[in-house]
Amino acid sequence: MNIFKGQNLIEFAERFKTDEDCKQYLSELKWKKGYSCRKCGHKKCQIRKDFSRVCNICSSIESSGAHTLFHKVKFGLRKAFFICFEMATTTKSLSALQMSVRYGVQEKTARLFMHKVREAMKSSENNPIDGIVQVDEFVVGGHETSKQGRSYHSKKKKAVCAVELTNDGKVKRFYALKINDFSAKSLLKIFDKHISKKAEITTDQWKGYRPISKDYNIKQIPSKNGTNFKALHTMIASPVRAKLSGHQVKSWIRTTYSWVSDANIERYFNEFSFRINRSQSKNTIFNNLIKKMIQTNTITHKQIIGS
Ligand SMILES: [Zn+2]
Repeated sequence: MNIFKGQNLIEFAERFKTDEDCKQYLSELKWKKGYSCRKCGHKKCQIRKDFSRVCNICSSIESSGAHTLFHKVKFGLRKAFFICFEMATTTKSLSALQMSVRYGVQEKTARLFMHKVREAMKSSENNPIDGIVQVDEFVVGGHETSKQGRSYHSKKKKAVCAVELTNDGKVKRFYALKINDFSAKSLLKIFDKHISKKAEITTDQWKGYRPISKDYNIKQIPSKNGTNFKALHTMIASPVRAKLSGHQVKSWIRTTYSWVSDANIERYFNEFSFRINRSQSKNTIFNNLIKKMIQTNTITHKQIIGS
């Protein structure tokens, strides 16, 4: 199939003129490896005008959006594709309110769909970061530089982040996770999910990392107010210097985290990491996202609100 490449909005609008264009695209991606009936397992089908498949044996019908995160999108696939395109290619995050105005959909509907997109953006955790890695924690409202200040019980929102650096100190990949406190147990989460055991990890001298160094290759160095963690700190504090080409990390994570509920913050981290970690493959980022939308099982409104 002819996958959509690039970030050009005019070309995108030309390619996806109707809902049918999007259904065709979805169906080609979804059944790329062939069709198999979900009911009886038969491999042969008829293709209907709307690109859904009808099983030749049991006549069960499967639409291109069924069993994907596009299932039952109320406002039409074309708008859904545009929202995906914007979320994949933007350098800032767009609010549900902005999306609702741009595409003429209800804000609540836009918010729900955008959460589904963030769900698709979640890391597979199959490619842990490796090589030169820095790990650090932060709170919204400022990095806690004083060790004594690293309160276990502070009400401030906390996160731990890990960054993989290139040999010349630039950010290659980035992950962040919400944590409830700075204990070793909480910090370990990001190691187990996102960091290779072979990685050469640097942290500051916080005691919470000590137990983790039994399983991971960790070097603890004085933070010196962040000067020893330049890439990570410039990334959190000043994305321009970190050469992230417009990723507004500070305004993004900090401001986002200040208004996003604790329950949803990891979805926003997913979105942020998805774009950073694919900044080398921007050309195929839209197709990549659609593939993930297809592979991810449908999630309900209740699951999104209740999580
Ligand atoms: Zn069948």
